[in-house]
Amino acid sequence: MREVVAEVVACRGCELWRQRRNPVPGEGNVDAAVMFVGEAPGYWEDVKGRPFVGAAGDLLDELLSGIGFSRGDIYIANILKCRPPENRDPSSDEVAACTPFLNRQIQIIGPRLIVTLGRHATSYVLSEAGFPVEGITKLHGRTFAARLLGLQLVVIPTFHPAAALYNVKYRGGLEDDFQIVKSELEKLGEL
Ligand code: URA
Repeated sequence: MREVVAEVVACRGCELWRQRRNPVPGEGNVDAAVMFVGEAPGYWEDVKGRPFVGAAGDLLDELLSGIGFSRGDIYIANILKCRPPENRDPSSDEVAACTPFLNRQIQIIGPRLIVTLGRHATSYVLSEAGFPVEGITKLHGRTFAARLLGLQLVVIPTFHPAAALYNVKYRGGLEDDFQIVKSELEKLGEL
């Protein structure tokens, strides 16, 4: 994982490195059974070089503690490792340039379960696993038994925590989906 991080730091695979303050490779427990995949660094992540350290990160921490988890129990990485200007959506070229890092992180960690946060992470992970991609409102809270990068694992899509900061209606959905994550981990014998 140290090599992946060093390569992310040195990466010039797209133009996003020019405007970033810090790359955000990802962090957490490399032996984790569960991995969370977000979209891209935002303002505070870019400042600190760490994933989910802004308001969405505070909500993520609350949701994790609601199922008895903390950051030390999981690994978190994003689809993009550098912040897109004005937090715009990742472009398909950026996703193509950056996701080999995420793929290697997934292979190193070998999670039993991946939680995808929001539509970008969900569509990347599900399409890599060969599933048709629908809207996040339809997909969230479902469990997909997936073969991904040679690993057999479960994928559970949910809303991006930032969505719940803008619209409270997503908060309940996130809480329900985190309960599904918990019960799936129990089924897998990981809790
Ligand atoms: N949103 C994301 O998708 N990732 C982060 O690291 C922070 C906010």
